[in-house]
Amino acid sequence: MSRTPGSFIDGDWECDAPEWGEARNPATGEMLARLPKGSRETAVRAIAAARAAQPAWAAATAWERAALCRRMADAVEAAQPHLSRVLSVDQGKPLAQAAGEIGKACDGFRMAAELVKYMTGETIPAETPGRLVINTRRPRGVYAVITPWNFPVNIPVEYLAPAIATGNAVVWVPAPSTSLIAVEFMAVLAAAGLPRGLINLVLGEGPVVGDEIVSNPGTDGVGFTGSTATGRRIAERAAGKPLLLELGGNGPLIVRADADLEKAAEAAAAGAFGNAGQICAATGRVLADASIAEPLAELIREKAEAQILGDPLQQGTTMGPLNNSGVLEKTRAHVESAVAQGARCLTGGRQRPDLGSDLFYEPTVLVGVTPQMDVARYETFGPVVPILALDGDAAIMEVAPDGDYGLSMGIFSKDLGEAMAMASRLRAGIININERNNFWELHIPFGGGSGTQSGIGRIGGRHTLEAMTDIVTVTLPVSGY
Ligand code: NAD
Repeated sequence: MSRTPGSFIDGDWECDAPEWGEARNPATGEMLARLPKGSRETAVRAIAAARAAQPAWAAATAWERAALCRRMADAVEAAQPHLSRVLSVDQGKPLAQAAGEIGKACDGFRMAAELVKYMTGETIPAETPGRLVINTRRPRGVYAVITPWNFPVNIPVEYLAPAIATGNAVVWVPAPSTSLIAVEFMAVLAAAGLPRGLINLVLGEGPVVGDEIVSNPGTDGVGFTGSTATGRRIAERAAGKPLLLELGGNGPLIVRADADLEKAAEAAAAGAFGNAGQICAATGRVLADASIAEPLAELIREKAEAQILGDPLQQGTTMGPLNNSGVLEKTRAHVESAVAQGARCLTGGRQRPDLGSDLFYEPTVLVGVTPQMDVARYETFGPVVPILALDGDAAIMEVAPDGDYGLSMGIFSKDLGEAMAMASRLRAGIININERNNFWELHIPFGGGSGTQSGIGRIGGRHTLEAMTDIVTVTLPVSGY
């Protein structure tokens, strides 16, 4: 740590508060820092700072805003070794994966810098003679951004970069269990020449500071990534504001009888064990044709056993601890209740405190899972592959929408026509054929299917920039139109 951590408001660090939280290394339990908890009043001051900074920033040209985004990217890139290490010890992910996340954060700033220069409006023919109708995109104003702990740098950048590229100011509330990396990341942005008040970081509890920034009339839009329950609450508290809600998922990986099983197993394992399963688009469950379920399970077991669970800072480690006790308890409860109801653990299913802390949980493969079990119906968010053996496509299609999530899905089949026919009948934001569930690139639209529990709106590339701007139409009298 290079500084005392705190909230960052109007260009200054606030490193004291009546209440304090702690940053702990999930791999060792070691305390990394004490973190001052902001109050509603802290959040209100951050909103005021953002409001004061925003008009001048909106008046800057797209080229000037793009230049700032590029400076942010360069600064984050230069700080990559330091940020990767803090991310790894604060979140628990292996160092190489942490470095990958920081790299994506640079890409996110550079992409916003490119895209904003090519955002255009329209000229619309009018029925009325002599009236010119044009529209342009303008920033919404101040964005309230609330982010989770699974990708505590990359997910914030999905909002911060397009927000500032398009001329908004931001008040950002990170997850309490990864606030230390948020502080270090904010410090890098600040040192790169961020105008005062443009991005304000408020540490504290979601129901306090998060609730304030979404409900306060001083914010004009909300970007939230987190659980479905919190997303619902935010939708009520922010009623009337434009919302981007990126919520939970329990994506099925469908494996048809004709699938390449080796590739399907690889995708299932990558989708379930990457980031220790703490991915909204993870392989939530495998829906396998009963005729191939057993050999497929065997292949997934091999991949699970090839994972190296251990110290995230150790080279070669592929899976670190879970980030916090909440996700550990949910993972344990899902596995234990499935086993109590007749499922069988092919491998894993145990905590490994011998590796350094109570938060290590083995990569787990469950067979004999039925659609009614919690592990199949609800998002686990841990390193578990529940395998359901189902009789043919019709049974698979019946079970796929269970739980009403609709974020990401995967389909493995050699028959692309059949796979495409299945995809056209499923409701999800992204459906990957012969790929892992969580295949995604920064510019591809990503979000929940309408009417599902996975959220509203799309992030990714130009979609976020558009979501964070208003269309303003101006009509004027001009002869000849
Ligand atoms: P969470 O909803 O508990 O917390 C997310 C954030 O919301 C945290 O910063 C928290 O402090 C804040 N918060 C909590 N209560 C609040 C309130 N009442 N008002 C305002 N803010 C509040 O979620 P989590 O456990 O941190 O994250 C895991 C969840 O996030 C999973 O369900 C996962 O699927 C989802 N997720 C979704 C995506 C996506 O893109 N769709 C990406 C990553 C994670």
